[in-house]
Amino acid sequence: MKTQELPHIVIVGAGFGGLTTARKLRGAPVRITLIDRHNYHLFQPLLYQVAIAGLVPAQIAYPLRTIFRHQNNLSFQMGEVTSIDFNARYVRTNGSVIAYDYLVLAIGGQTNFFGLQAVQENGFQLKSVEDATGTRNHLLEMFEKASREVDPERRKALLTFVVVGGGPTGVETAGALAELITHVMAKDYPEMDLRESRVLLVEATGSVMATYPEGLREATMDLLRSKNVEILLNARLTDYNGHTVTLADGHRVDAYTLIWTAGVRSAELTDRLGLPQGSGGRIRVEPTLQLPDHPEVFVIGDAAYVEDRQGVPLPMLATVAQQQAGTAARNLKRILKGAKPEPFHYKDPGLLATIGRNAAVARIWGLSFSGFVAWVIWVGLHIFRLIGFRNRLLVLINWAWDYVFYDNQVRLITRE
Ligand SMILES: Cc1cc2nc3c(=O)[nH]c(=O)nc-3n(C[C@H](O)[C@H](O)[C@H](O)COP(=O)(O)OP(=O)(O)OC[C@H]3O[C@@H](n4cnc5c(N)ncnc54)[C@H](O)[C@@H]3O)c2cc1C
Repeated sequence: MKTQELPHIVIVGAGFGGLTTARKLRGAPVRITLIDRHNYHLFQPLLYQVAIAGLVPAQIAYPLRTIFRHQNNLSFQMGEVTSIDFNARYVRTNGSVIAYDYLVLAIGGQTNFFGLQAVQENGFQLKSVEDATGTRNHLLEMFEKASREVDPERRKALLTFVVVGGGPTGVETAGALAELITHVMAKDYPEMDLRESRVLLVEATGSVMATYPEGLREATMDLLRSKNVEILLNARLTDYNGHTVTLADGHRVDAYTLIWTAGVRSAELTDRLGLPQGSGGRIRVEPTLQLPDHPEVFVIGDAAYVEDRQGVPLPMLATVAQQQAGTAARNLKRILKGAKPEPFHYKDPGLLATIGRNAAVARIWGLSFSGFVAWVIWVGLHIFRLIGFRNRLLVLINWAWDYVFYDNQVRLITRE
């Protein structure tokens, strides 16, 4: 068969789901067009490390054209998909119209501010490279401003950092931020008494890490407190004007920094497709990950609403997106051979989150552990999962340097 006659698979999104699908279709008798608004794949779980001046963006992102340099059945197009015609089978980008035989939508998610407009405008989030470098610049600037501030109340507010959301991202960010202050900033600003600084973790429910077993939730809180993170539980944020945080019980905290990690929902495009949506705006799909009325379309990852056997929606995690990518690629191959697609079943690989130096919590193979052993597993796994040998080596060297010398390398305030 001539190349042009091969079935054309368009994959939208080169995050964990799209990238894995494309790789799994390597060597298959298909033509693949991979589309993403960025020209790189981003390892989002380490974005917080960019925000706390630990890593540079290039160490957690990798150019897509390099990743697929040797995959002959794939071409990459950088572009934003703005609409999809499911009946005529084409996607429209900000520059072209691309027809498909099969479509894989892996467009991911975005931060959910639950309608809190003021928080969206005045707070920071961790979803993109720009968000993370913007947060880093702001955090570092707060120390500069505080160092020349004579009003003690204003100085305290400049040195108060509020992280909202007690899930893994909030916990990791709060822990790393507390360590940045204790180990690094205290050395950079000997003229300031950084015991004035505060890191607050604000959580609306009664516990951090709600999906973790009781013992690990307690261990997480103990580790956070040992790093001087103040934990506010059952504290629902209602407003933030850029310098004062207001909670539902009327409690106020003066802080010039708020990092919102309390919610995630599906990418904006999912709201414009006219398809049935589940919680968080995610698109409802069949157990085989196909659209009910369009079996030639698969939706995977954060953008897809899929329930487990107990009827609980699957979490928005890289591990879910990657496993679904495996099923989507397998089902596409089966369909092309005339076989029936198979349903997706998630195999939970466990839980893992770090709280900083020598401190992490993990649940793997039914075993829970916390502290140094969990932290070593966390470091090893994250190095392994990064794309590119160079990035793995650089991140390892960087972390080893920080570990030995108590020094975060990227303390640059840059303007974009
Ligand atoms: C700070 C942070 C920490 C996290 N930590 C963990 C963790 O420790 N463990 C874990 O398992 N998960 C973690 N996650 C969640 C994990 O990153 C997501 O579940 C995962 O990225 C989902 O994969 P995906 O392929 O669905 O979407 P993504 O990886 O988000 O990829 C979506 C892609 O689609 C592109 N795109 C979106 N819309 C369009 C459009 N209209 N046109 C063109 N391209 C488009 C985007 O540019 C992006 O490249 C974390 C997420 C964040 C933000």
